[in-house]
Amino acid sequence: MVKIATRQKEKLKGWLRRLDARQQQPNYKLEPSTEEHTCPHCQTRYTGHFCPQCGMEEGTSQFTLRTLVVKLLDVMGFDESGNHSVLRTLRDLMWRPGYMIRDYLGGHSVAYFQPFKLLIFLTIIFTLLIHVLGVELEQSTGILEKLQEFQDNADFKPIWPLLAGVAYAIRWFQDNMVYSIIFQNFFIVNAMWKVYRHRAPYTWVETFIVQMYLCCQFTLLGIVQLLLTQRYHTDSLFPYLVSDRLVSLVLLYDFFQLYGEHRFWPALWRLLKVELWLIVQYVVLACIIIFCLGAYVGFVQGLSE
Ligand SMILES: [Zn+2]
Repeated sequence: MVKIATRQKEKLKGWLRRLDARQQQPNYKLEPSTEEHTCPHCQTRYTGHFCPQCGMEEGTSQFTLRTLVVKLLDVMGFDESGNHSVLRTLRDLMWRPGYMIRDYLGGHSVAYFQPFKLLIFLTIIFTLLIHVLGVELEQSTGILEKLQEFQDNADFKPIWPLLAGVAYAIRWFQDNMVYSIIFQNFFIVNAMWKVYRHRAPYTWVETFIVQMYLCCQFTLLGIVQLLLTQRYHTDSLFPYLVSDRLVSLVLLYDFFQLYGEHRFWPALWRLLKVELWLIVQYVVLACIIIFCLGAYVGFVQGLSE
């Protein structure tokens, strides 16, 4: 019995290893061409798919219906066979997200759609869907209710102003979603860079690109969730519009591939460290907001006296 169980386990492990090996393969390869061409634009003679002088693609001088359609779709990045394909990028964001980001940063950027543009594109689709489906954001007010409880309790009177300040800061973030998302992304990049800089060779800027792709991935998941459940919410530290548990699971999967996090508990510990760093930055920012408010109120009172 035990033997069968171990054999099953070995089988599963072998299968997972093969799956991982397949996911590591970049799946965009342009076969080298030995055909000779004369560039219609700059008259250079060359072999290959692109003119080395001006970058024009071979065979693009004639306008047929096919090239017209391809060019139109290419604006959107929808040409599956070509460069910077949206479809390939979306598929890889689900199938091999960490390896895809690693490839993009490692010099395969021609194969994938740029993260910033893709994020704008996905956000537009997400926003359109919200309007079409008529769904409203579910925001949790748990923390605010807790703060209110403390403020009603006379034992906490010495720290009432502090609690009011924190509540103000939280409400400010909830009311200013755009600033909130910008701050959150900035903080996540800081936290990820801080925690993983010894494991991965990525600079702060490269970590920022990682984060942009992660946002794309979660927006895509948010779209799927929105279509399936007609709901979305933000109640976590991360500005992703899917549930907390899904965020942790997906991040573990991403970091397994991107940072080589092959052991579960250390991976989970480092993910927790990212969240802790996020909280630290929030506390610092809240303190700055409270301090500025206090200084402003003091200043106004000073003026009126
Ligand atoms: Zn040329």
